Amino acid sequence: KNTIDKIAAGEVIERPSSIVKELVENAIDAGSNAVTVEIKDGGTTLVRITDNGEGIAPSEVKKAFMRHATSKITKAEDLFGITSLGFRGEALSSIAAVCQVELITKTAGELTGVRYVIEGGEEKTPEPEEIGAPEGTTFKVRNVFYNTPVRRKFLKSPQTEAGYINDLMERLALSHPEVSFKFINNNQNRLHTSGNSNLKDIIYGIYGREITANLVEVHGEAPFGTLTGYIGKPIISRGNRNYENYFINGRYIRSSIISKAIEDAYKNFMMQHKYPFTVLHFQLDGDLLDVNVHPTKMELRFSDQEGMYRLVYETVRNALVGREM
Ligand code: ADP
Ligand code: MG
Repeated sequence: KNTIDKIAAGEVIERPSSIVKELVENAIDAGSNAVTVEIKDGGTTLVRITDNGEGIAPSEVKKAFMRHATSKITKAEDLFGITSLGFRGEALSSIAAVCQVELITKTAGELTGVRYVIEGGEEKTPEPEEIGAPEGTTFKVRNVFYNTPVRRKFLKSPQTEAGYINDLMERLALSHPEVSFKFINNNQNRLHTSGNSNLKDIIYGIYGREITANLVEVHGEAPFGTLTGYIGKPIISRGNRNYENYFINGRYIRSSIISKAIEDAYKNFMMQHKYPFTVLHFQLDGDLLDVNVHPTKMELRFSDQEGMYRLVYETVRNALVGREM
């Protein structure tokens, strides 16, 4: 059983940033509006995530660590639903298979919290123990791949792993302006967003004045959904696509059709084509999204590629037209 869990874990947990991603998504799913992520040594020795969400009931704690345990929707069409980021019920079991995990959680309905420890798939607390705790959930994940040395060898340096997590935290903050995120790397505060839903404030916090002073707000609508956010004036173009951020129903994705539409719209305003800065939020009907593309791959296709291209192209173009460049 442990072997199967370890193999399965490899598909979900590739590196410390995968742990952060899965646990933060769970925190968001649990209705948290404040999430703190703390890492040490690029997340290899410690990832600690604290949220103020609904918590896990004592009777559900052990269950949450079983493979394919999910309290959420599992239908394929709902993978990109607005309400839930999780869908496979594999994250906790995978993390517990290859790390040392301590969970402290408390729901509103319980007087005390519980603590549960599981390491390499083995329970260290056969039953969750009572412990005083605030409402919400804390996961303390130590020593990633401590029992799978081969996998540990594929990790990059702590600085590089920390960089991946930093990028991820920035994207999570941009994707959920309504959640206050705090990110602490080796005891240093790296990111703190207010959770006041102001996307521009978050962009300012991450990218600074140069970018924020040169943003154009965009808004577009199609029968299948809406598009809102900010794009940079063409003067702030960058050397690669890293500054093209877009989120579909709260999820960070890559899409060649969206990137092409953005770049084509800009091309008309500049002789020399460069990659623009964007933070775009799409709210789209589920049936537009091609669920045959695995969500963790982040590359997405649409049942109406044409319509999607037009929505993005026209929205970006309209925002650029008539603006002072
Ligand atoms: P999934 O997110 O796909 O449901 P996970 O393995 O990520 O699967 O989580 C298993 C279950 O544990 C979730 O369905 C949820 O009920 C519970 N859970 C995990 N993290 C949290 C959290 N931070 N707050 C509340 N419940 C949580
Ligand atoms: Mg999950």
